[in-house]
Amino acid sequence: MAEFKFAPPYELPVYPFTVPPELQGSPMQRCPIVIVGAGPAGLTLACDLAQRGVRSVLIDDDNTVGVRGASSRGICYAQKTLEIMDRLGICERILSKGVAWSFGRTFSGEEEVYHFNLQNQSVSQQPPFVNLQQFYIEGFLVDRIQALGLTDLRWCSRVSDVQQREDHVVLQVQTPAGQYAMQADYLIDATGANSPIRQQFGLETHTSRSADRWCITDVRFKKPLPVERWTWVDAPFNHGRAVWQHLMADDVWRMDYQMSEDMDPEVISRPEVAAERIRAQLGEHVEFEFVWIGPYQYRDHLLDDFRHGRVFFIGDSAHVVSPFGARGGNTGIQDAFNLGWKLALVTQGQAPDALLDSYNAERQPAAAENLRVTSRSARFLAPRSAAEHVLRRAVLKLARKHPFARPLVNTGRMSVANDYPPSAWLPQGARTVQNLTLHGPDGQTHRLMDLMRRGTRFVGLWFSPATDQAQHARRELATWPLDLYAVGHSEVLPTQHDPEGVLARHLGLDPAHCAGTLCLIRPDAYLAATLPDCSAMQLQQALHAALHAALHARATP
Ligand SMILES: Cc1cc2nc3c(=O)[nH]c(=O)nc-3n(C[C@H](O)[C@H](O)[C@H](O)COP(=O)(O)OP(=O)(O)OC[C@H]3O[C@@H](n4cnc5c(N)ncnc54)[C@H](O)[C@@H]3O)c2cc1C
Repeated sequence: MAEFKFAPPYELPVYPFTVPPELQGSPMQRCPIVIVGAGPAGLTLACDLAQRGVRSVLIDDDNTVGVRGASSRGICYAQKTLEIMDRLGICERILSKGVAWSFGRTFSGEEEVYHFNLQNQSVSQQPPFVNLQQFYIEGFLVDRIQALGLTDLRWCSRVSDVQQREDHVVLQVQTPAGQYAMQADYLIDATGANSPIRQQFGLETHTSRSADRWCITDVRFKKPLPVERWTWVDAPFNHGRAVWQHLMADDVWRMDYQMSEDMDPEVISRPEVAAERIRAQLGEHVEFEFVWIGPYQYRDHLLDDFRHGRVFFIGDSAHVVSPFGARGGNTGIQDAFNLGWKLALVTQGQAPDALLDSYNAERQPAAAENLRVTSRSARFLAPRSAAEHVLRRAVLKLARKHPFARPLVNTGRMSVANDYPPSAWLPQGARTVQNLTLHGPDGQTHRLMDLMRRGTRFVGLWFSPATDQAQHARRELATWPLDLYAVGHSEVLPTQHDPEGVLARHLGLDPAHCAGTLCLIRPDAYLAATLPDCSAMQLQQALHAALHAALHARATP
């Protein structure tokens, strides 16, 4: 049998277990926020809270990041995630280690049927996507959390029981030094797809398992391939089944092959079988070394409610989707960023507990939408009925000749920041605001996220405000968590300039006719309200709704 070259396995950091105060004779602690699970979702939340000056305890049953002995699970990180990481202070590290990309091609057989360039829709400082092994992002988050110094990180600690009380939660933690109990005002379950907390509560997850089987083959090639996302619906070199090809950090390519459902997972992940697939694709003489080979199947699930009393579910514990379009980890990170500012304001006494209900109102429909989108991709790639086979054949045939059918070829719709439907907190609904460039009065440029780096505050961008209105608003709203900026000239407010109208257009305004309009941006960079001819009173009402929920909207069924 031929010998196959394997690269040395990834070296993951090891974090030490420290005996907690509870096991050193201190009385039981009552912590405002305890997060269970240090995957991307839990780490993002702890880091975001720390960045906002809020302490939390983060408990994980392991002593490292990633999954020991395996390759990376997630590889693609979307623009909104990168913008969040910019606020958290680790985007530069991600960009310098990862591979930025925006261009993708989709093939059917030998033919390219579709390509896209996500850069065309972007005004952000961050690229549309960066590919990076998930454990690097997790490791950067741990470093940042440690540098910020406000998170009590407890490794090798497994939460084994959670009990809800009227105004707090009691949890039991198992450690190498023994078991102890803690109390938390709010507990966040970020324990991933198999959440023991969710199981303990007996919550319905609407799980569905797919029989579709895939095999990841992470390899390093001697000769570089194009840095683009290439996908095949029906690759001739993979017996007419799908293939993805993508570069990650350290020159490692993720080659992901759809397998026949009846294939033995042990057989398809043998190096000699994996090597045959690589050679069938790239030629007999292609030179490569394996980094990791592993088969997988996917499932999905979705909780009906992401809040249960004082317990919140974020990331995979709340929702799991098939990996087509990289919506899993990205969505979990965005859950964390949605919840972070709300927990910060509530625990600091600046907003009522009811603001936390908006987490479920916004993120549950977002997860449901992601599930709909990824399920459609999964069924295109692995049709389950005769009708789905017919549809797929028709789409592929049409796409070869007619441009209108090309976008219907569905190998995964890449992760986007979800819009939020109208709600008591967001009477107009909300959509993300990209981290675009702002022009200061002195000709300096900076990013929208720079305006949001200080604490937990809304940003009001007021286009050419009338002086008396701006004065009035500044006076009346001085105690609200709000920073006001004028876009254009103002004698009252700090100014930003929008010479090309890029900012106005991105906010949905006509640059020539937006004088007097204020755009209210939330601390998670979502556009909460657009207020034409804004007055101090309208602004106060919009802020009040965003924090306390609008009474009239709440009454609407
Ligand atoms: C093949 C594959 C490819 C993927 N590709 C992408 C991609 O390109 N982009 C993307 O965004 N997503 C991708 N995903 C999805 C992504 O990996 C997950 O969505 C993400 O890891 C979920 O993060 P999480 O923080 O919710 O949970 P996890 O990452 O699962 O973290 C949970 C943490 O909780 C800890 N824990 C569990 N139980 C306990 C307990 N009782 N006490 C204490 N700690 C506990 C675990 O040790 C773990 O550290 C992919 C997934 C797969 C399988």
